[in-house]
Amino acid sequence: MPELPDVAGFERYLASTSLHQSVRRTSVDDDRILRGLSPSQLGRRLKHVSIEATRRHGKFLFARLSGDGHLVMHFGMTGGLKYYRREDQRPRHARVVLHFERGYHLAYISQRLLGQVSHTEDPEGFIHDNDLGPDALDEGFDRPAFTQRLQGRRGPVKSRLMDQSLVAGIGNIWADEILFQCRIHPATPVEELSQGEIAGLFDCMRRVLRRGVEKGGEMDRLPPRFLLPHREGDGRCPGCGGDLERTTVGGRGTWFCPACQKEPG
Ligand SMILES: [Zn+2]
Repeated sequence: MPELPDVAGFERYLASTSLHQSVRRTSVDDDRILRGLSPSQLGRRLKHVSIEATRRHGKFLFARLSGDGHLVMHFGMTGGLKYYRREDQRPRHARVVLHFERGYHLAYISQRLLGQVSHTEDPEGFIHDNDLGPDALDEGFDRPAFTQRLQGRRGPVKSRLMDQSLVAGIGNIWADEILFQCRIHPATPVEELSQGEIAGLFDCMRRVLRRGVEKGGEMDRLPPRFLLPHREGDGRCPGCGGDLERTTVGGRGTWFCPACQKEPG
């Protein structure tokens, strides 16, 4: 599932391929992907308009239009973007395609239709209305702000990290890596973490996500001391060499090292 590092990669891709090109027309393959507007409304919004800038917040990607407002994309469980020239290069599951004047196309892909494409006049309002917390890599977001947002919260630390209203961008995959890097068991109740552990968790979150962004979300390009490349690989902990374990936390499949990440209590 595309999380912050993947969406940061999509943002770079969008910015490097599709800026300042006028849209000739838009096609919508399946209108269940649209939120709050019809295919013809989307088409009118985009006609003779170009994408001027990009912005990411959590797992959402905003494309600022030369006309009114911003196109908003969320990639659901599996999805992405593809820029291509010839119609036979059109990817499968392309739900929305922008056809540019100069002959290229940009496809928004969502395999299982769990993503969404919408339009907003105001990204700040969109972030507020969707109850999104600060982006996990926001420069203005710091240890005290993170600590404050965790105050009064309960339940497994992994579930809280994945709570988009607390901090936006982290999903099931990267939560495991963050918790592994700071050696916290994913089921640890968040109310039992010390101030020091919370500060350490914040630092791990930033370090891990920054590295993820650097690698475009590609797990096999991560350093060997990361957990993610070992899950489906040798199944061994890169810290102690023991066997990794798979469990369920908050209903989600979770990888961890039972030796390095001690069970709470
Ligand atoms: Zn270990």
